[in-house]
Amino acid sequence: MLVRIVAGAVAAAAVAWLARRRGTLDGSGQLAALVCGTAAAAAGWAWAAVLVAYFGAAVAVTAAGAARKSARTNGTLAKGGARNAAQVAANGGVFALLALAAGGEPATAMGIAATGALAAASADTWATEIGTLWGGTPRSILTGARIKAGMSGGITLAGTAAAAAGSLFVAAASVLAHDAPDARHRVLVTGSAGFAGAMFDSLFGASLQERRWCARCRVHTEQRVHPCGEPTAHAGGTRWINNDVVNVAGTLAGAGAAVMISRLAA
Ligand SMILES: [Zn+2]
Repeated sequence: MLVRIVAGAVAAAAVAWLARRRGTLDGSGQLAALVCGTAAAAAGWAWAAVLVAYFGAAVAVTAAGAARKSARTNGTLAKGGARNAAQVAANGGVFALLALAAGGEPATAMGIAATGALAAASADTWATEIGTLWGGTPRSILTGARIKAGMSGGITLAGTAAAAAGSLFVAAASVLAHDAPDARHRVLVTGSAGFAGAMFDSLFGASLQERRWCARCRVHTEQRVHPCGEPTAHAGGTRWINNDVVNVAGTLAGAGAAVMISRLAA
């Protein structure tokens, strides 16, 4: 166990260092990724492999068509660019804690919840990145009104399909890494849970998440300081509910949905 934690920390440090070098993570994000990676390795090599699969795919879909996406969402997304510690923890924190609780038993409620949480994070990342790249004008998941690409709570057909694919990818990676019996059933349970978590993430983002306004550019944004340099003003939603809070809620929803669906489908 101790050897695995040390080896896991070394491997996580290498991956986090590379990710910072290529601009995926900033300094605080690098530290958070090191903590999440070490926790996953402490939980077991299979969990670490699932986390690496999630992270590699997230980096790939983020890199795909980066210039086009940046032009389409100019200054709207709170994310974009190097991820910081809050963003890393919001996506991987719930998974890391549940994986530690599950340890070598991926078929327990904790283990199923851990996979559901990371599947939800993956679904949300793929939906945002692919939806921005290939989706048309997003519509609010709540009202159906057209909204600006990159704003939380907006969904597109391409993004919704990508959410399903991203969730199934992590669900399949988890079954493969753990060499789990009853593979197809488990992929469907945790895969649909991750999708449900991402949809909850969008609903939460459309309703309660804080919306901000740049007076200079006259655009809505999620950022506290717009890329133009102007501090933005509160323009709706709940002040403390930013995109990171919404992502934590989305991964918790994925974890909860996985346990519920596995009970119902048992
Ligand atoms: Zn501005």
